[in-house]
Amino acid sequence: MKDTTTPAYELTHHNYDVVVVGAGGSGLRATLGMAEQGLKTACISKVFPTRSHTVAAQGGIAASLSNMGPDHWHWHMYDTVKGSDWLGDTDAMEYLAREAPKAVYELEHYGVPFSRTEEGEIYQRPFGGHTTEFGEGPPVQRTCAAADRTGHAILHTLYGQSLKHDAEFYIEYFATDLLMNEAGECVGVVAWKLDDGTMHVFHSKMCVLATGGYGRAYFSATSAHTCTGDGGGMVARAGLPLQDMEFVQFHPTGIFGSGCLITEGARGEGGYLTNSEGERFMERYAPTYKDLASRDVVSRCMTMEIREGRGVGEGKDHIHLHLNHLPKETLDLRLPGISESARIFAGVDLTKEPIPVLPTVHYNMGGIPTNYLGEVLNPTEDNPNQTVPGLMAVGEAGCASVHGANRLGSNSLIDLVVFGRAAAIRAGEIVDPDAANPDVPQAEIDKALSRFDDVRHASGSIPTAELRLEMQKTMQQDAAVFRTDKTLAEGLEKMTGVAGKLDDVAVTDRSLIWNSDLMETLELTNLMPNALATIAGAEARKESRGAHAHEDYPDRDDENWRKHSLAVVDGNKVELSYRAVGLEPLSGQEAGGIDMDKIKPKARVY
Ligand SMILES: Cc1cc2nc3c(=O)[nH]c(=O)nc-3n(C[C@H](O)[C@H](O)[C@H](O)COP(=O)(O)OP(=O)(O)OC[C@H]3O[C@@H](n4cnc5c(N)ncnc54)[C@H](O)[C@@H]3O)c2cc1C
Repeated sequence: MKDTTTPAYELTHHNYDVVVVGAGGSGLRATLGMAEQGLKTACISKVFPTRSHTVAAQGGIAASLSNMGPDHWHWHMYDTVKGSDWLGDTDAMEYLAREAPKAVYELEHYGVPFSRTEEGEIYQRPFGGHTTEFGEGPPVQRTCAAADRTGHAILHTLYGQSLKHDAEFYIEYFATDLLMNEAGECVGVVAWKLDDGTMHVFHSKMCVLATGGYGRAYFSATSAHTCTGDGGGMVARAGLPLQDMEFVQFHPTGIFGSGCLITEGARGEGGYLTNSEGERFMERYAPTYKDLASRDVVSRCMTMEIREGRGVGEGKDHIHLHLNHLPKETLDLRLPGISESARIFAGVDLTKEPIPVLPTVHYNMGGIPTNYLGEVLNPTEDNPNQTVPGLMAVGEAGCASVHGANRLGSNSLIDLVVFGRAAAIRAGEIVDPDAANPDVPQAEIDKALSRFDDVRHASGSIPTAELRLEMQKTMQQDAAVFRTDKTLAEGLEKMTGVAGKLDDVAVTDRSLIWNSDLMETLELTNLMPNALATIAGAEARKESRGAHAHEDYPDRDDENWRKHSLAVVDGNKVELSYRAVGLEPLSGQEAGGIDMDKIKPKARVY
């Protein structure tokens, strides 16, 4: 069906039960699950599915399989609660830990080529913050791995499986805006087809945002250039809130200079960090788990070593990661990918020399708030659990919230598949394939097209790349590993100014086909609300928790701040409110549920 509207773009209309935006691990797992249940499903992706950032995940996926020593989902849940610094929602964390083994075996049966133990079982390695016996026992081997290319293996397998079912793919389509009706339901999404310039309206009963993180709001990030928080941008423009955006994870081991990631699996296999005195300094800060303390802790310790003058290199501005003591067979078998990365990006032969590393932005704990079924929340004072009909969010774009203030390594890949699957199960319950699709108000389509057209014809004075750099440098400097009242207040003021300049941006290429200038500008309009919500949330939070390390408030303050922040962004203004952390477990104390006493808040030491 074709029609012509104002502004004059010819539209192609598509009708589906479910439209998934994003073909990373979470989007593909959701797509596959929806199609499996007979829902007519489309998956839209701005890049070819197997180029999604999930492909870069190296270290592995957490699940308490007990293949390499005793483990239990209670211990996994405890570690996740502690890792989150008591900001995660209890029901979602329980669901994650309990469903994880099932989700991993499902991946195995779909064909993911996991590394194997001598006995032929799935190989599991130790990862930061994953322990036994509620943090009382030794580190556990919980992280299932396909060498150091786990995300690659998972993504390719899920894409193959999705094709096997009747999911339809719209590849190299860029989703620009959600379509909402007067009742506040999401009824579809508008997309621009990058290779021929046509515009498309997808009508849906359920739209699933699986658009990934927004690491590219920062100057130095391990994430792909495509990680621009498009889902968060669309949600913000629909007047819906973003949650816990102040919590940004810095990975301890980005390669110095390029930011390219060296997996935590490197330390899991026995790698360790040293300062300029050759000291294994993590032994001092985290006597029990040392280099395998949780990521925020290791990143802060590295930053402190550098600040105190014990950094390595000419500028004393980075740290060394040693793997040169490990047997060559371990490196070849378990870490072949990073051997290559070290050579290409640091010019280092890791069998002989240490790798220069620095904490680098890696993951966004915050995102679009959802319940543990993947349904997007629009909390009100009367109903903090109010959902937005027709809208779900999964993966790094969402915030269920299992990672709270800090995510444990290998807990994202499992989040993708557990909640991708949960969203599909939920959609199976609430989407009626026999019903007609809800009407889309013409005014909503016109609004989305007008915005697109305005950006396309933007003729201000600042090139997109220049404004993006200004945003990235501000975030890098003022919403960093360590934060103070002063840096955050200055940062918020600067970011408000930077976001205000979006009105003065200049797009030089007006064409519609393969117009990267236009696409990057649309992405910048998405990065900006994510960045602004991050720094505003950080400025307001007067405590230290997880990845939010505030030097003027060095302690966690459960009485006043054990709550989720919600940010509604309108242009360059942010309105903050708060929502209670979910404290109810799913299974109660019966039926093998966790002993709630075990997960009561306490000091977080490793
Ligand atoms: C280098 C690296 C290594 C990592 N290693 C691990 C690890 O070992 N273990 C672990 O648990 N976690 C790891 N993580 C984290 C984890 O990989 C990510 O959080 C996760 O892969 C994100 O998956 P996703 O499905 O949410 O989104 P992504 O994989 O980022 O995919 C996003 C999808 O959305 C699409 N999209 C976005 N915007 C639009 C739009 N406007 N229109 C259409 N499509 C759009 C993209 O095309 C893409 O298909 C790592 C992350 C990085 C960066």
